[in-house]
Amino acid sequence: MIKHIGVFTSGGDSPGMNACLRAVVRTAIYHGIQVTGIMKGYQGLIEGDFLPMNARSVSNIIHRGGTILKSARSADFMQKAGRDQAFKMLSNSGIDALVAIGGDGTFRGATIFNSEFGTPFVGIPGTIDNDLYGTDYTLGFDTAVNTAVEAIDKIRDTAASHDRLFFVEVMGRDAGYIALWAGISGGAEAILLPEEKTDIDKLISLLKTGEEQLKTSSIVIVCEGDDAGGALEIAKMVKAKQPGFDTRVTVLGHVQRGGSPSAFDRILGSRLGVAATQELLRGVHGKTAGILNNKITFTDFTKATKQHAPLDPEMLRYSKILAI
Ligand code: ATP
Repeated sequence: MIKHIGVFTSGGDSPGMNACLRAVVRTAIYHGIQVTGIMKGYQGLIEGDFLPMNARSVSNIIHRGGTILKSARSADFMQKAGRDQAFKMLSNSGIDALVAIGGDGTFRGATIFNSEFGTPFVGIPGTIDNDLYGTDYTLGFDTAVNTAVEAIDKIRDTAASHDRLFFVEVMGRDAGYIALWAGISGGAEAILLPEEKTDIDKLISLLKTGEEQLKTSSIVIVCEGDDAGGALEIAKMVKAKQPGFDTRVTVLGHVQRGGSPSAFDRILGSRLGVAATQELLRGVHGKTAGILNNKITFTDFTKATKQHAPLDPEMLRYSKILAI
């Protein structure tokens, strides 16, 4: 019988984590369960950095980006000694189950902790990368795409006014979701993704075809994890082969992580927070909540951490049709 849950945010922060935290805290209280916030992810668990929470502790945070619990990457939790210490802190505090909001690394840590100490866990996918298995959307992805599109729209104004070729780098070390979605929404001429091999000559030929078809400016979206390099490297390679192109580079960077969450991310955080907490109280654990075809689902951690969600091949195909 669970009487006291702990909740934490871990890995990279993402917009919507606060909305989700609010939902977890209020659902626990609604069901008469004590709830404690754990600061700075697994590091706070090890250090016993705990914050007792009530319904008012999460007032006025639904619209805020980042995470009021803060987030951290914990090297100590990767070691058995660190996890032993975390379990000691947990036992001393009386917390008997955990809700982890984070990415696949967070879920991997949770799985190991659970196998060692049996502490019940549920996970909620919080990452802007949208690459987690078992959900169509992760918390923060929609906001990050909208931030990138807003920037691309502004860049398009100057690209069109000066007949320039812009390379815009968006986040995604291993996954091209943000690049693909922002590229389609922003009407990009080309989208370079880690999931596809980049061929500079092919890219140049595509841009030249555009010119022949009276395009006077172009935007190329480069995912930061592209195999040919980042936007700066790719722009240099293109310029070396085509000195006549008037190229510019914009690296969007961390602006994509911050900002007020979109209504979609607030709803997603609220839905996943309520569902995951209720499922944990029902005795289900070792699973991550997700949304598939607009229905809440739960996927085993072991399955969710073994694979990444692949890009939708239809979206890839559409992006090429729409860029002519
Ligand atoms: P993001 O997708 O934003 O990077 P993430 O949850 O994948 O989020 P990670 O840094 O990979 O971020 O993982 C968060 C934390 O989880 C790590 O700092 C570490 O403390 C813990 N963790 C990750 N992998 C393991 C592991 N194999 N064993 C124990 N702990 C782990």
